[in-house]
Amino acid sequence: MAQIFDRVALIGLGLIASSMAHASRAHGLAGEIVGTARSAETRETARELGFCDRVVDTAAEAVKGADLVVLCVPVGVMGAIAREIAPHLKPGAVLSDVGSTKRAVIEAVGPHVPEGVHFIPAHPMAGTEQSGPRSGFAELFENRWLLMTPGDADKGALAKYRAYWEGMGANIEEMEPDHHDLVCAVTSHVPHLIAYTMVGVADDLRRVTDNEVVKFSAAGFRDFTRIAASDPTMWRDVFLTNKDATLEILGRFTEELYALQRAIRQGDGDHLHEYFTRTRAIRRGIIEAGQDTDAPNFGRGR
Ligand code: NAP
Repeated sequence: MAQIFDRVALIGLGLIASSMAHASRAHGLAGEIVGTARSAETRETARELGFCDRVVDTAAEAVKGADLVVLCVPVGVMGAIAREIAPHLKPGAVLSDVGSTKRAVIEAVGPHVPEGVHFIPAHPMAGTEQSGPRSGFAELFENRWLLMTPGDADKGALAKYRAYWEGMGANIEEMEPDHHDLVCAVTSHVPHLIAYTMVGVADDLRRVTDNEVVKFSAAGFRDFTRIAASDPTMWRDVFLTNKDATLEILGRFTEELYALQRAIRQGDGDHLHEYFTRTRAIRRGIIEAGQDTDAPNFGRGR
């Protein structure tokens, strides 16, 4: 694949940024990758792992001369970082982010974007429950969706940025920020909240001993625990910045849950069977779309 940007600056060096660095390298998409992170410890780890060509101490330093700058930090701090780097951005550069919510990022970052810099917010729908610079890998974005909310961004800059993500193996869809936030509330944010709740409930439920919860977790609980192990800072910020869509979907979820609760109480097997038949079809659709495997137990060994 041909080089797309001469210099890429990654702000924050966790799971997403380190995966972008590995993927950019693997596909030759960037002439130089410069990275920075908040803590000296993360910067040191990144230097040791060597996935950036240079690791520098400040965001302002990192963005100097970069053609592409990507904010890879929790959503709640993007505005402050945008303010810090704004005076140092190269005219004509693309400025992007990988935040899990889009309306809030646009409102926080947008006002700081200097004239002549192309702001193209984006969100890779790919991740794991791991975080930090050691967790990244080059294949993370392969055959995964990247949702972009470019608004009226410059067409040339947009084409270049799309090519960069396509080079890392992603499929791209453009949408409006509010629609993005609703889609993610359904597909990611509320499911995470439910997992957090279920794991919290099991933790509270002293009638089932801790030992049993762990021992029999393969019955379904284990998949909740994997999701509920995701980074607390990232997920706190997701719910603080996607409040409306999350509450809307949670309201719908609660209604459906009550309906199922009633069906169980009343012994309404038809309702349960019909409901579970419908959900099974959704699972089939996901497998057919290549977004998961139909191997038993999610393709994992036992
Ligand atoms: P991560 O592995 O936890 O890394 C976060 C990075 O941000 C670290 O380098 C951290 O620096 C830095 N950071 C944290 N708080 C900061 C602050 N207050 N000021 C400056 N820097 C700070 O996170 P990630 O999973 O890569 O997520 C990064 C972004 O991608 C988030 O906006 C998240 O919503 C989004 N995202 C995540 C996933 C996912 O599944 N993980 C998927 C799609 C999008 P230190 O290491 O020095 O603390």
